[in-house]
Amino acid sequence: MRGWVLGPADQVPPRMLRVDRLASSVRVFDPRMLELFRWVAERYVAPLASVIGRAVPPRVAGEETVAPADAVAGPAARGPATSVLPGYRGAGALLRAIAAADGSTYALRPAPEDESAVIVESVAACLGAGRRALVIVPEAEPEPSVAAELRAAFGDRVVRFVGGDRRTRYRTWLRTARGDGDVVVATRPGVFAPVPELGLIVVSRESHPALREDRAPYYHGREVALARARLEGAVSVVSALCPSAEVAAAGLPVVEPPDRRWPVVEVVKPGPEGRSPRLLEALRGARRGFLFSPLPGYGVARICRSCGEPASCAACGGLLRHQGGRVGCIVCGADGVCGVCGATTFGIRRGGQERVEEWASRVAAVPVRRVEQPRLPGEAEILVGGPDDVRDLGVGRLDLVGVLDADRAARRPGIAARERALAIWMETVGWARPRGRAIVQASDPADPAVQALVRGRADRFHERDRHRRADAGFPVGAPVFRVTGDDRLSEHLTQLQPLTLLVARGDPTRDDGRGPKAPTVCLVAIAQEGLPAFGRVMRALAADGTVERVEADPHL
Ligand SMILES: [Zn+2]
Ligand SMILES: [Zn+2]
Repeated sequence: MRGWVLGPADQVPPRMLRVDRLASSVRVFDPRMLELFRWVAERYVAPLASVIGRAVPPRVAGEETVAPADAVAGPAARGPATSVLPGYRGAGALLRAIAAADGSTYALRPAPEDESAVIVESVAACLGAGRRALVIVPEAEPEPSVAAELRAAFGDRVVRFVGGDRRTRYRTWLRTARGDGDVVVATRPGVFAPVPELGLIVVSRESHPALREDRAPYYHGREVALARARLEGAVSVVSALCPSAEVAAAGLPVVEPPDRRWPVVEVVKPGPEGRSPRLLEALRGARRGFLFSPLPGYGVARICRSCGEPASCAACGGLLRHQGGRVGCIVCGADGVCGVCGATTFGIRRGGQERVEEWASRVAAVPVRRVEQPRLPGEAEILVGGPDDVRDLGVGRLDLVGVLDADRAARRPGIAARERALAIWMETVGWARPRGRAIVQASDPADPAVQALVRGRADRFHERDRHRRADAGFPVGAPVFRVTGDDRLSEHLTQLQPLTLLVARGDPTRDDGRGPKAPTVCLVAIAQEGLPAFGRVMRALAADGTVERVEADPHL
């Protein structure tokens, strides 16, 4: 068995083996980091050992004996290129807090064109106070604009803890622990990076779903960042154009521009095949633009041309999509064959990105292309892209942004689907800053998400959403778990008096000895103060086999 030594114990369990061998002389956590690991284990009901195992990158022994290389002269640090933050409302308090490292938390709502600049300036304030900063970004590739701006501002004082092979990751981790970098830019796992004398943690695009860990042990990078800052007396800043429901509900002090800096957003009815006359007219005059269309491909197969039945995959019953000149199943990838009669021609409902590229090309005066690698349009170009293409790409300076099918998000299932859609729309529309405009095609201009997009503020949307979530039994901020186990599970959970308990009962009759019986799956929301008791009961039930798996904060 491999393990970690946490410290001296008052009571030694009866069956205790001696330490056989010291695996490494590198200390992988200190008492404060251990406190954070314990917090994560408690909050997400995960074994402490698996939390530590996830927080510390796999060891590459060779790296520990390599003498630290002499610092290679990196790019020169030029410092922040801007000074926009001091003009922000609430910035005085933030800058004083950073100077004092008082453990407080701020919500930053930058103007789209300031998104990187205000983070760079916050980091500069932290370095100026003689402490180090950790900046968490949701995505590694392409390099987020905020990471590039930090490198430009602070040169080789910036350490990037993103991606890379095992050796690189461990080397970077060791460097960070030695205090080689003053600014650490990292993706989600880097929230545990061993940064000494930490004064500031910034979470960029804090509403992004990639900040949530999808494998056990589950955790949310933003929540862990806030907990870590509290434990270490560092200031935390959560930044996004559209805050998450959790941040919006937390009542944090807000740092934002003193004036409204948002493109003019026009809402129009979609028109035939999602082409409103207003959008077509705007496209004719646009030089640089982005058309946001959520669906890939050319369109979706609706009916079989031979038998007239609704189209579905013959192999798996999945949806058939026309993409790249071929009809195929989006579930299993098989060629499109009618499940009823075996024919291969279908009536297609057009509307995917390929179709948008086709009709927009006929209208626009500049080339129209689909996004292949996320990027902003070139000098005379209009790009068509979807949710995955909306990244931290820097200041847009586009003259036109079109959101083509806002209705689709309203139809999407899931309690947080609309919140996610709104965050992406706002980032897209933000690309029209500083001088462009946006056209949103939506059937219901009064829809709260559409209204939030027009105003550039999500406050009212979040307020309504808070009620909706509470009515649905999953109030914002209440921990939610998906628990899998046997048929005794729901009784145990009921006794914990959860806020909400949804049970999908398993089927013990399927237990014919040849395979696992269908487990019972429970979705449970509990009050924050009920978390310790919930954790204790889950651990006990896991020990006796009633509970198989506890998944914290599943995407709802
Ligand atoms: Zn299929
Ligand atoms: Zn058919």
